[in-house]
Amino acid sequence: MDYVSTRDKSVKVTAAKAISQGISVEGGLFVPDTFPKFCDTDFKEIAKLDYIGRAKYILKNFLNDFTDEEIDYCVKGAYTGSFDNEQPAPISLVGKNANILELWHGPTCAFKDLALQLLPYLLTTSAKKVSNGKKIVILVATSGDTGKAALEGFCDVKDTEIMVFYPSDGVSPMQKLQMDSQKGENVHVCAIKGNFDDAQTGVKKIFTDSAVKEKLANNNMQFSSANSINWGRLAPQIVYYVSAYCDLLNREEDYLKDGFNVVVPTGNFGNILAAYYAKKMGVPIKKLICASNANNVLTDFINTGKYDRNRSFFTTISPSMDILISSNLERMLFELSGNDDKAVAKMQSDLAKDGVFYATEEIKTKMGELFWGGCCDDNATLKTIKKYFSEYGYLCDTHTAVAMNVYEQYVNATGDDIPTVIASTASPYKFANSVLSAVSDKKAESEFDTVRLLSSETSTEIPAPIKQLENATVRFKEICEKDDMLSAVYSALNI
Ligand SMILES: *Cc1c(COP(=O)(O)O)cnc(C)c1O
Repeated sequence: MDYVSTRDKSVKVTAAKAISQGISVEGGLFVPDTFPKFCDTDFKEIAKLDYIGRAKYILKNFLNDFTDEEIDYCVKGAYTGSFDNEQPAPISLVGKNANILELWHGPTCAFKDLALQLLPYLLTTSAKKVSNGKKIVILVATSGDTGKAALEGFCDVKDTEIMVFYPSDGVSPMQKLQMDSQKGENVHVCAIKGNFDDAQTGVKKIFTDSAVKEKLANNNMQFSSANSINWGRLAPQIVYYVSAYCDLLNREEDYLKDGFNVVVPTGNFGNILAAYYAKKMGVPIKKLICASNANNVLTDFINTGKYDRNRSFFTTISPSMDILISSNLERMLFELSGNDDKAVAKMQSDLAKDGVFYATEEIKTKMGELFWGGCCDDNATLKTIKKYFSEYGYLCDTHTAVAMNVYEQYVNATGDDIPTVIASTASPYKFANSVLSAVSDKKAESEFDTVRLLSSETSTEIPAPIKQLENATVRFKEICEKDDMLSAVYSALNI
C-alpha cells in the first residue's frame, strides 16, 4: 500500500513519508491507494483481542513500511496506562439501540486522545526512516480539543517542538486553561485574534510556504502536522469503529443482523471519515449520520450538493464543531469521485477562491446514499442533554448531545431504528457550564465550583485530569494578530 495525494495521484509516498510530511507539497491530503478488506473470520479474530491487540492488527495494514516491533512499540506506548479505563473506547447502552461509544477516557477528556496519544510515536518512528535526524516542528490549529491533546501527546518528546494556535474567543474556559497551563520544554501556545478557520488557514499557509520551509531546513528542522489532515491521525480513529463493532459482536451476535448506523458529531470531517473507512474495510455500517451544530455547512452540502462557506459563523456551546471549512471532506470527495484528483483539485481551488464549490451529480448521489446530514442549535443541544439525563440518567457533553439530537431527527424522519453507535467525543466536564445549565438551575461563580456543582447535582465523577487543572499554573498568555502567526513561530523556535 502506498499513499497518494488527493490533488495529484502521481505523488506517491510510503506511510512513513505521508505521516512525517503531513500534507502533500501541492496542498493535497494523503490517502491509501488501496484499503484492506476484512471478512467475518477476520472480525471474529479481532474480537478476541484487547484494544491494543486490535489496534496492532488493524494498523499494520496501513503502516506497511513499519516493522512489527515498531508497531508494537507505538501502540503499546500510546494505549498503556494513559486512559482511565482498561478499554480506551467503552460503550454505554442507552435505551434499546443507542450505543454510546465513549471516546473521552484519555488524558485530555476528548476523543482526540485516541489518535494523539499514538501520533507522536508514529511520527518519530516515521521521521527516523525518512527525514534523517531533522527536528520535527508540529504546528497545530485548534478549535479547542486537538490543541490540548497534541500538547499532551508531544510533551517532551525528543526531537520535536510543538506550537498550538487557538482562537482567543472560540474555546471554552476549561479548554483554554488546559492549553495555557501545559507543561513541557518543547511546547508553545498562542491565542490568535480570529476564529478557528483563520487559525487553520494561517497554519496551512505557513506549511506550504517554500521560503519558510527553507528557513527551517537551514536550521535542521522540518514541519509536520498533528491536525486531522495527517494520516497518522486518521488511522488510529478507524481502530475504534472496528473495535466497537467487535464489542457489539461479542455482546450478542444476532443484535447486528441488519448492520448498524453510526452517528458522529462532526467538524473537520475526520472522525466520520474514519467511520466511512471502517465501512469500506468491511464493517457492516449502514448509514453514516453526520451531525452538525448551527455551523451547518455539511448538512447543506449533503442535502444540496453545494458547499458554501460564505455564511455567518456562529460561536456555539459545542465549539470543537464551529468550523466552516471541513478539511477532511477533501478525502471523501476523492473517494466519491472515483479518485479523480483533477476534480478534487478544482473543487478545492473553487473553495479557496470563492468559498463555494458544487458536487457533481455522481458525488451528490453517492454522498446521499452513504450519509444523512442533520443539525441542531444550542437550545436543542441543551434540551437533549436534559432529556437523556432525566430519562436515562446518562450525562453527555454538548458535542455528543448534537449527535443524539440529530440521531433522533434521523429516526423520526426515516423510521430506521436499527442498532446505532453514537460517537461521544468529550467528557461533560470539559463543558461544565453549559452542561450544568441544561440539568440544573443552580449556578456557581468559578469554573471549578461549576465542575463541583455539576458533580454533586448529577452524582457523576469529575475526571482526574480536570480535577488536577484547578491548581495548575498558567504559562502562556500571548495573543497575536492572525497575520503575525509566522513571526510567533519563528520566535518560539528561536530562528
Ligand atoms: C474535534 C471534535 C469534534 C469534531 O471532530 P472532527 O473529526 O473534526 O469532525 C467533535 N467533538 C469534539 C468534542 C471534538 O473535540
